[in-house]
Amino acid sequence: MSKVHVIVAETRGGKLRQVTFEAVQAARRTGGEGDRLAAVLIGAGVGSLAEELAGAGVDAVHVIDSPALELYNPEAYGAALNALLDRLQPDTVFFGHTAIGRDLAPAAATHLQAGQISDVTAIERSGADVLFTRPVYAGKAFEQKKRTGGGPLVVTVRPNNIVPADGAAGAAPVTAEAYDAPPSLRTVIKDVVRKMSGRVDLAEAKIVVSGGRGVKSADGFKPLEELAGVLNAAVGASRGACDAGYCDYALQIGQTGKVVTPEIYIACGISGAIQHLAGMSQSRIIIAINKDAEAPIFKVADYGIVGDLFDVVPLLTAEFRKALA
Ligand code: FAD
Repeated sequence: MSKVHVIVAETRGGKLRQVTFEAVQAARRTGGEGDRLAAVLIGAGVGSLAEELAGAGVDAVHVIDSPALELYNPEAYGAALNALLDRLQPDTVFFGHTAIGRDLAPAAATHLQAGQISDVTAIERSGADVLFTRPVYAGKAFEQKKRTGGGPLVVTVRPNNIVPADGAAGAAPVTAEAYDAPPSLRTVIKDVVRKMSGRVDLAEAKIVVSGGRGVKSADGFKPLEELAGVLNAAVGASRGACDAGYCDYALQIGQTGKVVTPEIYIACGISGAIQHLAGMSQSRIIIAINKDAEAPIFKVADYGIVGDLFDVVPLLTAEFRKALA
């Protein structure tokens, strides 16, 4: 019998987040022959994004559009989503492993009495089974999980790991769904203050230039910001740099910070503590710049430069500027 797999889309700054398309691909890999993919878009004034989503290879798009849903609120979004899930009766529900996805997914799992597999980085089939890979022990090992028994499943997908497929030809039908607001909300979101590391979103950046205690001061981040500007990269940091007051905690990468998986991660003056590696060791290419040749970061680096970052980073910036001109 054909099943329905739901993808809960996420937006930021008036755009669909890249992880939404990755979640569509995750749903496609999970589904069997004849299964249907239904995307759910929740927000205010998101009609034009629904059209984009409709061309992303799903079979249906459900839009819950209301001024009351302008800012993410777990109770309001949860109520809107759960009412729709009751109707769709999904086999699997996919979220991005983002701040919102991590908040909303367990609520949906509880509502559906579903199991949950979080932070999935790969999905493959083995006979009739679907295997979900996820990192454990701060990224030192991976486990593969499979669903046992019946019942729905909730999955969160780590950004930048599952390559989205090209959109399908044609567009899926878009259905506007009513939003029945809960009678009262226990929390009201007044405003969202977003701290950005420059122009590029750290979680979805293709390149991250990251600074550690080795940058020595807030001013020490300037050469890194310049390099990031040339490479259209986001700036990140170790907790060492944040604790020292060189930058905002919004930039922190690691076990207690953000997890990033860019194509290129450039670590400048970062020793490579296990808690930092937990947030970046899945990056495709790691470049480390450190004046200590014995620094542990070199054990995970694909390319290592032993030297003073204040000499090396400006040289790299100048060379990349020339090469990219
Ligand atoms: P350091 O370890 O002091 O390293 C600085 C490096 O800079 C050194 O290797 C040095 O050789 C190099 N250096 C100095 N000057 C220069 C120069 N001019 N040019 C080139 N290199 C230079 N850390 C995180 O990053 N993220 C986390 O999420 C996180 N969570 C934690 C959670 C817990 C529960 C605990 C206990 C710790 C956590 N930490 C986390 C802290 C972590 O253990 C390390 O203390 C921290 O990562 C060190 O930061 P650092 O590499 O910038 O500093």
